[in-house]
Amino acid sequence: MRHDAPLSSSSPVRTTCPYCGVGCGVLAMPDGKGGAAVAGDPAHPANLGRLCSKGSALGETLGLGSRVLHPLKRNAAGGYDRVSWELALDAVAGGFSSIIARHGPEAVAFYLSGQLLTEDYYVANKLMKGFIGSPHVDTNSRLCMSSTVAGHRRVFGSDTVPGSYEDLDCADLIVLVGSNTAWCHPVLFRRMQQNRSERGAKLVVIDPRVTATAEDADLVLPLKPGSDAALFAGLLVDLAERGLVDATYLANHTTGFDETLANARAIAPDLATVALRTGLGMPDIAAFYALWASTPAVVTAWSQGVNQSAQGTDKVAAILHCHLATGRIGRPGGGPFSLTGQPNAMGGREVGGLANMLAAHMGYSPAEIDRVRRFWNAPNMARQEGLKAVAMLDAVAEQRIRALWVMATNPAVSLPRADHVLSALKGLDLFIVSENVLSNDTLRGEPDFILPAAAWSEKDGTVTNSERRISRQRAFLPLPGEVKPDWWIICEVARRLGFGQAFSYPDASEIYAEHATLSAFENEGSRDFDIGAHSMLDRRAYDALNPVQWPVPAGRPLGTPRLFGDGGFFTQDRRASLKPLAMPALASAVSDEFPLLLNTGRIRDQWHTMTRTGLSPKLGAHISEPSVYLNPADAGRYGLVEGGFARIENGHGAVVLKVALDPGVQEGALFAPIHWSAQTASHARIGAAVQPFCDPYSGQPEMKATPSRILPVAYAARGFVLSRDPVALPSESWWAAVAVDGGQGRLFATNASADELMAHSRAIFGEDGLVEMVDREAGIYRCAATRDGKLVAALFLGPADRAPLWDTVKLAFADPDFAPENRLALLAGRRLDGAADAGPIVCACFGVGLNAIRAAFASGGTVSAEDIGRQLRAGTNCGSCLPEIRRIGASTRHGNSAGEAAA
Ligand code: SF4
Repeated sequence: MRHDAPLSSSSPVRTTCPYCGVGCGVLAMPDGKGGAAVAGDPAHPANLGRLCSKGSALGETLGLGSRVLHPLKRNAAGGYDRVSWELALDAVAGGFSSIIARHGPEAVAFYLSGQLLTEDYYVANKLMKGFIGSPHVDTNSRLCMSSTVAGHRRVFGSDTVPGSYEDLDCADLIVLVGSNTAWCHPVLFRRMQQNRSERGAKLVVIDPRVTATAEDADLVLPLKPGSDAALFAGLLVDLAERGLVDATYLANHTTGFDETLANARAIAPDLATVALRTGLGMPDIAAFYALWASTPAVVTAWSQGVNQSAQGTDKVAAILHCHLATGRIGRPGGGPFSLTGQPNAMGGREVGGLANMLAAHMGYSPAEIDRVRRFWNAPNMARQEGLKAVAMLDAVAEQRIRALWVMATNPAVSLPRADHVLSALKGLDLFIVSENVLSNDTLRGEPDFILPAAAWSEKDGTVTNSERRISRQRAFLPLPGEVKPDWWIICEVARRLGFGQAFSYPDASEIYAEHATLSAFENEGSRDFDIGAHSMLDRRAYDALNPVQWPVPAGRPLGTPRLFGDGGFFTQDRRASLKPLAMPALASAVSDEFPLLLNTGRIRDQWHTMTRTGLSPKLGAHISEPSVYLNPADAGRYGLVEGGFARIENGHGAVVLKVALDPGVQEGALFAPIHWSAQTASHARIGAAVQPFCDPYSGQPEMKATPSRILPVAYAARGFVLSRDPVALPSESWWAAVAVDGGQGRLFATNASADELMAHSRAIFGEDGLVEMVDREAGIYRCAATRDGKLVAALFLGPADRAPLWDTVKLAFADPDFAPENRLALLAGRRLDGAADAGPIVCACFGVGLNAIRAAFASGGTVSAEDIGRQLRAGTNCGSCLPEIRRIGASTRHGNSAGEAAA
């Protein structure tokens, strides 16, 4: 329960989803008890009322159970004491001052996040780069989209996403590259699907892994990892040979085409070479090239499969080249389009949250440094680019950086070589974390102070989505405890460092107005990012601000700004600069020792390191355990079986994951999700096993192709425990935490015997009120604990398939009226409501399980996902599960369950 009186409102508060870069508008209606009902905002242009499964479940993530509510200071015993804000802020400022005095400003750094609001980001960047005088500000967006930033800047001269979501409605061909859009940008994917069903647009999916996005695509190109640039270099050659190059556009608006085409011819002279480099069949490549060539209204969209690469900048450039060469840019339904991963990665790019950007899309040229210095009246301007994320953490490990402030992110999980990162953090002289939850692995890095930061529902500011649309994020719940907004915390530290005058903002609106003013300062059309029309917004106008796409220079009428259709790039000569590419290659090749390429990415219903989505029982029901997905042929080769366990290891680290067979994963590849941390699983922090090799321009690490090996791991028994409060499992057990209604769930595997689990259960639950069932020969032990007539815990152990009993017992555990006399029936695994077992959840919105969907397809009358929707409601709300329902339909018709994604 929140301590302060909840905000109340008779009408919903318009805000923005805190997850992916689609940037959906959300209507939040506080319930007066600290929670809120959440729905899509029909008036928001990004989603027109839709939300995906993650957005729909936001109401389940508002509890205060795991929140940091007060400033905390590390004590001599390694624990944390509650301290006052005054003490914490004085100590943080004093610590920074003393390290700067001894080691210089470059010994301090900030590591920020695409989860911060633009206003938070702006003041952090201003403080460090303008007043402390260190350029070392970087962000987790480095891991997400920085290759796109570098590609845009190298080719366009600015970090400009020229497209709009409206282009996806009117494109005749949508090409998705390295993007599981159906799971990672679900609302946008539905928009694409709507275009397909209403207008007949074609969809091509280019991805080494055949995912839900490829389900009913017109063409699927599962190319070799790292070969995207070869495919697009081949497309450029093909377009030239067909005579489709737009000579007028090239002559008027670009440079470098001839060298770039010659370079493309060296990389991909003909279909046979493209086939060799990409592993694709020549007919498929030819079909793709013909489709692209014959469809002027083509959008090529990409995300992390392109970016998270040691050649990500070149991959982006290879795509841009094809659009520039044909003049297919800045036109309705045509253009290159990066799909941003985080809710405010774009806002962070706009304020200069990346180490190689200064502010307002300016870089580090002498003129730009001077312009920003004069605008800020900055006493200590940084003079050169700072260290990018991986290099920054290396500098921490080498003690070149001695003070680090991490805000709103979890680098001990998400950065490559996460174990190395965690030990580096422990060596800092001063380590500060601003955070809203305690369930963050980075806190294991022993910060000196943990500062309680506002969470999504309490924050007020702006975010920018993938299509350059700035939206207000509005608070709809009060700040609990002593929680403060990030911008306030930063400004208070700035004041204590002696910079109070430059950081005396009464609220977020004045920060935004200053940011807008800087964007227009000495701009006159010379820079892409210009929101000068917002310079004079007062608090009222800021509060009422409707979603708007930049640029919005002062005096420009509103509407969809189209960029680059008539050139006007932001290079010195105002021409796009096509760039020859390096020969496509991976950062590290496989070997006899490490013969498989480990790819990492997202799953449908979790977000980042699960500090928020991990609280939602609905979202935890889709894929409950961290798994490694691999091709059935490789499973046979390495002695692995579906539902078993495997250790994935390489020179950087190791994890143990469940095994899931997926024919969509190529032979020679592994796929593992990025979400689980040490808080949510025993052995699944995949960042520990990711290599740190980076793109030379963007500094983005190659997180999708780490050479690795895989080995089977055997456990004697499996089980689960459900409890109202967290309980420990026998040491050496493998476990994964799952949010459940009414408490905590853990699925586990162990070598402990039934007798050992019995002793363990008696020790943690007590024997009073405990009913047990044991079959030593079969290795089964089950118990249910009651207190005051209520079921408080259940633990099941056995060699049998856990899924039916997990779902059955989970339901009973969630029932507040569970009758204690039913405990024996529960131990026998009987569903007390007599209903059939629904199986693992596929539709998170309506809780529809795999078994129910399979049965509906098998009944014969059901032929489509839409029929399933009519019959079971599955897929009729957010639609995130529609590709999976189609896949279940196809596999049921073919009598084959392989490839169904539900765990
Ligand atoms: Fe949020 Fe889903 Fe919309 Fe992304 S697609 S912004 S996760 S509701």
